[in-house]
Amino acid sequence: MEEVGTNNLIYVNKIIPVSTVDGPGARTAIFVQGCNLKCAYCHNPETINVCIHCGVCVKKCPVEALSILNKQVIWDEKKCVSCDTCINVCPHLSSPKVKLYSPETLLEDIEDNFPFIRGITISGGEATLYPEFITKLSSLVKNKGKTVLIDANGKIDFSLYPKMIENIDGVMLDIKAWDEEVYENLTENKRDIDICKNIKFLLEKNKLYELRLVCESEWVDVLNTLKSLKECIPDDYKNISLKLITYRNHSSKLRMKDTPTTSVEQMKFYEKYAKDLGYKNIIVR
Ligand code: SF4
Ligand code: SF4
Repeated sequence: MEEVGTNNLIYVNKIIPVSTVDGPGARTAIFVQGCNLKCAYCHNPETINVCIHCGVCVKKCPVEALSILNKQVIWDEKKCVSCDTCINVCPHLSSPKVKLYSPETLLEDIEDNFPFIRGITISGGEATLYPEFITKLSSLVKNKGKTVLIDANGKIDFSLYPKMIENIDGVMLDIKAWDEEVYENLTENKRDIDICKNIKFLLEKNKLYELRLVCESEWVDVLNTLKSLKECIPDDYKNISLKLITYRNHSSKLRMKDTPTTSVEQMKFYEKYAKDLGYKNIIVR
């Protein structure tokens, strides 16, 4: 079996052929496997790690859709009944239900959707773990007249990947938290990237589609983040889209699973706070 990283191959966890919630218009949403953060509110933690083939899930599958061959766990999609038992028993925040793709084979798999979509969104997991793959896939998709957005957690320095940025149409950039300690607690990672530098780079390249912030008061320094973020945005770009995302308990599976959903009133307060700071284009979801 070929390995991830050779011949620009990556594991993909899921493809939604036509999604209306992953960017503007109808889009094919591609969820890559693997992430460099471990956010306390992650709602698809089975995408965080690439499978280490420990075999724990194999004997739990009720329909024998999983097997081991040459020390690799093999998933038989035809037998699978999508019960998600394998994901629930996996001790490594992973899934055996992944497919290995090159940019070319992924294009082949999604091309039939093109008459019905405006473009594709590459999400995850974390799309920016695979800049070469995104660069190549974007050029293939754009040659077919479709747009490419990526959903990114901002953990990389975008200026180090100019070709990827040139090839895509935009980044939906998650701002996790501002304060270093809050960020570290939320993501189990250091905030070692200059968020302002990333934002300015994307703005200058006209590739910042949207800023996003999941709003929750115990784990995220929402007000501090909104204020500090605003200070980063040069006046010329004051119409940049800001999406305030309601933290929802029902889709949270990790450390925040017992944290209550952010109320409508609290979201209205955050929206007004952002408006008062001078954000012009605010979406609350
Ligand atoms: S989701 Fe599929 S592979 Fe996983 S345990 Fe259920 S049937 Fe087996
Ligand atoms: S999906 Fe999880 S439990 Fe199954 S083999 Fe991979 S790491 Fe082990």
